[in-house]
Amino acid sequence: MLNVPSQAFPAPGSQQRVASQGRSKVPLKQGRSLMDWIRLTKSGKDLTGLKGRLIEVTEEELKTHNKKDDCWICIRGLVYNVSPYMEYHPGGEDELMRAAGADGTDLFNEVHRWVNYESMLKECLVGRMAVKPAVPKGMLSKSQVTDTLPREGPSSPSYDWFQTESSVTIAIYTKQKNISLDSVMVDLQGDSLRTETFIQDHSYLIHIGLSHEVQENFSVRVIENVGKVDIVLQKRENISWKCLGQPLEKHDSFIPKKDTGLSYRRCQLISKEDVTHDTRLFCLMLPPSTHLQVPVGHHVYLKLSVTGAEIVKPYTPVSASLLSGFREPVPPPNKYIYFLIKIYPDGLFTPELDHLQIGDFISVSSPEGNFKLSKLQEVEDLFLLAAGTGFTPMVNVLNYALTCVSSLRKVKLMFFNKTEDDIIWRCELEKLAFKDKRFDTEFVLSAPSPEWNGKQGHVSPALLSEFLQRSLENSRVFLCICGPTAFTDEGIRLLHDLNFSNDEIHGFTA
Ligand code: FAD
Ligand code: NAD
Repeated sequence: MLNVPSQAFPAPGSQQRVASQGRSKVPLKQGRSLMDWIRLTKSGKDLTGLKGRLIEVTEEELKTHNKKDDCWICIRGLVYNVSPYMEYHPGGEDELMRAAGADGTDLFNEVHRWVNYESMLKECLVGRMAVKPAVPKGMLSKSQVTDTLPREGPSSPSYDWFQTESSVTIAIYTKQKNISLDSVMVDLQGDSLRTETFIQDHSYLIHIGLSHEVQENFSVRVIENVGKVDIVLQKRENISWKCLGQPLEKHDSFIPKKDTGLSYRRCQLISKEDVTHDTRLFCLMLPPSTHLQVPVGHHVYLKLSVTGAEIVKPYTPVSASLLSGFREPVPPPNKYIYFLIKIYPDGLFTPELDHLQIGDFISVSSPEGNFKLSKLQEVEDLFLLAAGTGFTPMVNVLNYALTCVSSLRKVKLMFFNKTEDDIIWRCELEKLAFKDKRFDTEFVLSAPSPEWNGKQGHVSPALLSEFLQRSLENSRVFLCICGPTAFTDEGIRLLHDLNFSNDEIHGFTA
């Protein structure tokens, strides 16, 4: 099959037709169609020879990769190893070779302006052209390469900015694959822009006083696998910016996450709903000028002023419901953040929280946590042990496992509570178990009424060994445990006794 457009495509007068005038297409060998290329890029084959690493390429280095079987080309500051693509290129190998070992941006603009090369060539990305550090003048007018290289850990990210008549795009090059929308946090307050990009256990901060006004709505795009984050700001006035702005505190720094303080934004209480006699579902709305998504298994801190003192406590966001489509109308994603919170009448923080009125504000921190989603990647049997509000991290772990882990055979939740009235989302859990045969739940009560004929007691060897039955002998297994400290500690001790390794257990602790 030849990878040439049919007679009717591109449509007469389309940009492709106009731009491709004079450009010759060459017949491609069998097995070298666009679909074959897409298949190759999805095969997991290392197309750059760098095993997923992204590097900074100097002009000297680029020049040395100028042969067909070792051909690097720079397009708009990004360097691609196009050797694997040669035979798939509709314009032929010779056309690509015109830019071998050089900056092919002009050539590319001539013939390929419309092509989504970032997506087509994403598996061929070698890295970014190294930029000689600009002489610091206080004004951010050029691309910057951070000079705060960590001695260990991931490579230091860098950023650049571009503009059109109506928008300004800040591009962050993380030099790390598998970055997602929850790796980025953005706050825009007036002309102050603060973005944190979480890369492994480090945080890359961009903190700028923008030189011109922008609208409060912005968008964040992540080009996964390439490790690029675009923050697209909308100008208030369609004028050309000479510089991005002034660096603010810790701008362009890349430091271990544990060394960064928490940042807070004020969120509005939208609704509060009883879930049990003492636990409520709180819905908070993020400001429109914030992008914040809490990674699965992570928590945030809520901050309130209690009799003049600022009190801060950790809470784990949950989805609005366990069952998708259960709650109508579904609010637009990412603007709302939900919490299941138990109110302790004699507690310090929760009674104050409970007194908030709809429309009141509360401060929400940046996310924290050490749960690694990669632990769920290949899992076949997932066991969740929760006690009381220790159920909250299980909600998103459960949702993620059921929707995103293709190897999953079984998820079982053992949920420990004092009484039946304390069981959070009991009905939803039972409905989910009915709807999805992979999921099962068992309730264990420590202070049941005489009518209770289910399981009773505290976490124990007998309860665990009966519960932890694998769906297959030697299945890949993972366990999560969360609740009062004594419960979690005892549970982990018993799991070790049952020969589960530390690698197979995640204990959610403070
Ligand atoms: P506190 O003042 O801490 O009191 C709580 C109870 O303990 C009261 O009954 C009080 O009388 C008793 N107490 C206090 N001090 C003592 C003491 N010295 N000896 C004996 N008893 C004492 N909770 C949730 O509801 N939902 C969540 O999603 C959630 N996520 C969390 C995530 C993390 C990472 C952690 C560590 C905790 C999480 N919690 C969650 C618990 C939450 O952070 C608070 O601890 C909880 O809300 C109680 O706060 P409080 O200030 O109201 O109560
Ligand atoms: P709770 O007092 O209602 O107890 C729930 C169950 O925990 C009990 O029925 C019992 O089975 C078990 N339990 C309680 N004390 C125990 C002990 N000493 N030994 C063994 N088992 C015991 O629980 P709660 O008031 O809902 O408290 C939930 C706890 O979970 C809080 O301490 C909270 O801080 C913690 N939590 C932690 C996280 C996290 O991510 N680290 C998240 C949410 C909640």
